[in-house]
Amino acid sequence: MDFLPNMRLTTQRQIILEELGKVTSHPTANEVYDMVRKRLPRIGLGTVYRNLELLAENGIILKLEVGGTQKRFDATIESHYHIRCSVCGRVDDVDIEVQEEINETAAKSCDYKILGHHIEFSGICNECSAKETVLH
Ligand SMILES: [Zn+2]
Ligand SMILES: [Zn+2]
Repeated sequence: MDFLPNMRLTTQRQIILEELGKVTSHPTANEVYDMVRKRLPRIGLGTVYRNLELLAENGIILKLEVGGTQKRFDATIESHYHIRCSVCGRVDDVDIEVQEEINETAAKSCDYKILGHHIEFSGICNECSAKETVLH
């Protein structure tokens, strides 16, 4: 039997996990690919993408359900909130307590069993604010 393909996949997945865990920038699949490629020069974007999807499906990482056109990934899976820059699209964590009571409020106003909620704040990041100041 040939265990090699599985072994390789496991190693690749491990490195993808490690690289994602190093950053708090909520990278896109492309950005994860750029990070992983430094350690695995022969890895393909498709492989990185498939592994990210698989890790997200298994609840090992978080696939961000935020606005914007590209999916972003997060090694932090505990419930937390995000803020997205309306100018450059960067996503950061917002370090506030998760508002559990929103679930109860929602449960009272609809027929769903509430499993959770996502909050995405929008704003303008420091860097973009600084650029705007320069322009004006
Ligand atoms: Zn910005
Ligand atoms: Zn996050």
